Amino acid sequence: MKKISLLLTGLVLIYSCNIDNLKNASDEQLIKQIFEEAHTSSKSYNDLKYLTENFPKRLACYPQGIEAAKWTKEIMEDMALDKVFLQEAHVMNWERGNIEKGAIKLNGKTINVNVCALGRGIATEVNGLEAKVIEVNGLADLNNFSRDQISGNIIFFNEPMNPENKNTFQAYGKAAGQRFAGPVLAAEYGAVGVVIRSLTTAIDTFPHTGTTRKAEDNETVPSICIATKHANLLSEMLKENPELTFYFETNCKNLPDTISYNAIGELTGTDFPDEYIVVGGHLDSWDNGPGAHDDGGGCMQSIEVLRIFQKIGYKPRHSIRAVMYMDEEISQGGGKAYAEQARINNEKHIFAIESDRGVTRPLGFSIDASQEKIDKIVAWSKLFEPYDIDVFVKGGSGVDIDPLKDLGTPLSGLLTDPEHYFDWHHSGNDTFDHIVKEDMQNGAAAMAALIYLVDKYGLE
Ligand SMILES: [Zn+2]
Repeated sequence: MKKISLLLTGLVLIYSCNIDNLKNASDEQLIKQIFEEAHTSSKSYNDLKYLTENFPKRLACYPQGIEAAKWTKEIMEDMALDKVFLQEAHVMNWERGNIEKGAIKLNGKTINVNVCALGRGIATEVNGLEAKVIEVNGLADLNNFSRDQISGNIIFFNEPMNPENKNTFQAYGKAAGQRFAGPVLAAEYGAVGVVIRSLTTAIDTFPHTGTTRKAEDNETVPSICIATKHANLLSEMLKENPELTFYFETNCKNLPDTISYNAIGELTGTDFPDEYIVVGGHLDSWDNGPGAHDDGGGCMQSIEVLRIFQKIGYKPRHSIRAVMYMDEEISQGGGKAYAEQARINNEKHIFAIESDRGVTRPLGFSIDASQEKIDKIVAWSKLFEPYDIDVFVKGGSGVDIDPLKDLGTPLSGLLTDPEHYFDWHHSGNDTFDHIVKEDMQNGAAAMAALIYLVDKYGLE
């Protein structure tokens, strides 16, 4: 008994020493503690492994998306946070179906190629469709064709992401229009179907999917994306044999909107419990892969921020929430629902940060706020120099936290090395083995450090 009480006294002493140390710690020292704590733990890395192995293909509207939200709630409950809850979100409902076939046909020969349907797209008739192919280099190139030239054919949008552009997000943004608007525009030209080159700089055999514009008011045509290796093959074959045909078959479906859930954990603030700082990512992933970098990794980093604060004994002045948003990939229902609830509940959100650019090596932060607040945040970049995470620039934040902008919340996005992100993005290749534990740890620590500074000094 005596031994136990001595042990307990010892533990209390260590704990109170830790708290005193924290109170007297300089920003440099506290941030060092944050990074050290991040490096001692493999929890978020192991949790990501579990998530990707047990809940792959977790679109918000699928049962595995909802199961992933419930599991995320459970792992936060195990951490004894102050609050953990699920938040309802209305999400669009689309089902891939179980038929995805594609082939180049020439002189009685069939060359099978890897394809997958685009989110919100419509299916082919039973037995698929087959037609001659007109290749165009992106949306703008379509202006060079007449309706007569296109009518009755398949349009093959083959604009590549510019491999020379080191800013891969910019290269993606430039080429993504063909995927988003291509099928609706193709319908205007009388095309019967659309084949889109996958948006990746890798030349691989993985189709990389994504959303296309929903056929509500617009007429559209069935569409698929094709692996870049097979897009190159189709393009080469078309030069020699413009008469070849392409066949594809899908049975995807648009269904009435449904309900899914954001998973939220909170450390309640000591001084301003009704003022919030959000750190988040999106828990849903495309349904052709495990969604390790996009964005299971960002979610597990967000929970890790709370764990680091708990472990080093930092008591935040403001409430800090880790928000695992649902439905970033299709209709952003989770981000909209969170901001709407914040508005209804009159919750003041003083800052929000998102990790959704892959959990590769962190570089710094992109900041979307008034110039005055940007200047204040940029002045802290010196504290991140020892970790080589000191690129602080004005720019976009994240799709999920963006609706908080209407409530006047300053926003930020974790910037990470973009070189290989699109090799994995939206494909079956977005697997756990592409995750580097140290990069993931450093990203979580960097977000915790920035949140600590905002929590301590505010942004006013
Ligand atoms: Zn994402």
